[in-house]
Amino acid sequence: METRTYKNSDERISLLGFGCMRLPLVGDTQEIDAEYAGRMIDRAVENGVNYFDTAYVYHQEKSESFIGNALAKYPRGSFNLADKLPTWFVEKESDVPRLFDEQLARCGVDYFDYYLIHNINEERTSIVERNRIYEQLKEFQRQGRIRHLGFSFHDRPELLERFANQYDWDFVQIQFNYVDWELQDARRQYLILKGKGIPIVVMEPVRGGALATLCDEAVRILKDAVPDASPASWAVRYAASFPEVLTVLSGMTRMPQLEDNLRTMKNFKPLSPYEHEVIGRALAAYKLASTIPCTSCRYCMDCPAGVDIPKVLMIYNNYCQRKGDPRNELTLCLEYDILGEKSQAHHCVNCGACTEHCPQRIDIPSWMRTVSDLVKDAEAAAS
Ligand code: SF4
Ligand code: SF4
Repeated sequence: METRTYKNSDERISLLGFGCMRLPLVGDTQEIDAEYAGRMIDRAVENGVNYFDTAYVYHQEKSESFIGNALAKYPRGSFNLADKLPTWFVEKESDVPRLFDEQLARCGVDYFDYYLIHNINEERTSIVERNRIYEQLKEFQRQGRIRHLGFSFHDRPELLERFANQYDWDFVQIQFNYVDWELQDARRQYLILKGKGIPIVVMEPVRGGALATLCDEAVRILKDAVPDASPASWAVRYAASFPEVLTVLSGMTRMPQLEDNLRTMKNFKPLSPYEHEVIGRALAAYKLASTIPCTSCRYCMDCPAGVDIPKVLMIYNNYCQRKGDPRNELTLCLEYDILGEKSQAHHCVNCGACTEHCPQRIDIPSWMRTVSDLVKDAEAAAS
């Protein structure tokens, strides 16, 4: 198993991290299939995986106790356990030690190797400040109950920069894959963290499975280049090829996914310039096969009303490609929010300035109305 070093220490972290948010379930229930999942954990450990990521809320609050039990037979120093404070459950200062102690008990450990403030966005930064979350967690760290303190993040790069500067962080977890490089500006997020020397934990390298099930043309492009590599392995290698990435989390549900990831990370080779070019072509095919054939060429920009047309269309296409995902509406709202209010579709005044420049002859104003209405409905359903 390929490993990365935590900063200048002798701490080696497996480049493949096991995400415990999509564990196998028993039949149609929401109950974790502990026997099957336990075999996956054992197989991962046997093959050198030493980073396991859970959170208070995963699997209806059952993920922590599952992974705690599954790892209990291994020496405590042989694995890294990452857990996350459910920021949105913190209403007063005393909630922080209460939740933290509960998490230690659920996992059956007396310290966390990596501990994160979960899912930081604009609203949650004030929860952190109001309840002295950072200061309290820093105290737990001084007591040896947290080894490395960080946060996971889903918002705009400007906020990432502000929050990363506001406190002293040991690591940060971001959504990072070859679609979000542009769509959620993961590129800027990566550069901000790289500039500050903060190790990066990658989540969603396969974008919730979307990059494992590409359209036929994108698959053909990848297969022509490397016949025996799966689409998922390309996505995992993409994320792992960035040197500041400490580990790439994969939320694995079935043994074959684990085996595929193990193959990728055991004989890990960073993407070559040619392979980056192959991914670029596959990404272009993926975009073309989407509901709206936008290629993100940006010939239609700038919109006088400030709408970021290609990003709005990409968000819609991603929504269409995730059909059947129970979190689809929520993800849509999140991506739309990250886009930023000023760039959203409802600002379109139907001036038509964009359509004449579009080589794909997309009826942009009409799609702006469609997307705006769709998001409104999704937000109403979520509230
Ligand atoms: S039609 Fe709408 S999206 Fe297109 S340029 Fe005009 S305001 Fe912008
Ligand atoms: S010009 Fe057309 S294809 Fe190009 S980014 Fe704009 S909408 Fe997409």
